[in-house]
Amino acid sequence: MLSRKDFIKLGAAVSVASVASKLQSGTPNRKKGPVVVSTWDFGMEANAAAWAILSSGGYSLDAIVEGVAVPERDPKVNTVGLGGFPDRDGRVTLDACIMDEQLNCGSVACLEYIVHPAAVARLVMEKTPHVMLTGEGALRFALEQGFKKENLLTPQAEAAWKEWLKKAEYEPKPNWELNHDTIGMLALDQQSRLAGVCTTSGMAWKMHGRVGDSPIIGAGLYVDGEVGGATCSGLGEEMIRIAASHSVVEAMRSGKSAQAACEAVIRRYYKRRGDKAHGKQLCLLAMDNAGNVGAFSLMPGFVYSVNCNGTNEVRKAAYLLDE
Ligand code: ASP
Repeated sequence: MLSRKDFIKLGAAVSVASVASKLQSGTPNRKKGPVVVSTWDFGMEANAAAWAILSSGGYSLDAIVEGVAVPERDPKVNTVGLGGFPDRDGRVTLDACIMDEQLNCGSVACLEYIVHPAAVARLVMEKTPHVMLTGEGALRFALEQGFKKENLLTPQAEAAWKEWLKKAEYEPKPNWELNHDTIGMLALDQQSRLAGVCTTSGMAWKMHGRVGDSPIIGAGLYVDGEVGGATCSGLGEEMIRIAASHSVVEAMRSGKSAQAACEAVIRRYYKRRGDKAHGKQLCLLAMDNAGNVGAFSLMPGFVYSVNCNGTNEVRKAAYLLDE
């Protein structure tokens, strides 16, 4: 087994520190929307779509739904929406949730045949007395709302699944892009309204019916306009265990910066889980209600996309373990 070195990689830490200082320059706590951030590098295109709405004075909630619709409908992204890798039965099941600055939230889990689960989650929030719909019920609701039923299993995803079936071993690997990688997005608009969304096809080759952190309010996403928001990617079972996004928001509420809050949650996770954390990846992304951004992961490899004042770029997150 590889030895573990429990330290922050300085290079990455420096790049995040410079990002933080860039974003935090100016009067402390000055509202500085619009800003949009999202997990991974495919967040760049998603951010650009969200930015088109934010920069013209649009609502953050509209911006994030449009933003994540880009990877959701991209068949080349094998971890979100159309073209997402299926479960072990060959079924593409999608998870998503959404939350606004006033604690309104909606979620769908294990939703099949609908390309845009984040948009459905928004309607769960706006049009039902519930927060979460799953499986058949979520599908029925989506169809009633006018969404089209489509086959989400692309030939490429089907071929990958058939290849996997030859050994049928379920081994979630950190940062193996073809295995998982959710898009979580947080946006602050010109009127300082904060909103967040998280959408995914979940872990490839999962058991049918498995639901990860991504549609769970408090795990994959949490937003409170009084404080800020957080979202995650990585192994959902671990995120749920620590109510990851809610923990980050609560750490910010207690006075930590977005960056320090992400670090504190990962450090506490590692302290509590010790060897059980081995080989797992947990990636946190946060933004406070003034637009200051933080990101941190357990292991190397987490990148995120930031669009602030129209400059859209991918940044490396600092991380805890050198392995
Ligand atoms: N968190 C997602 C899940 O467990 C996967 C990922 O973000 O990589 O379903």
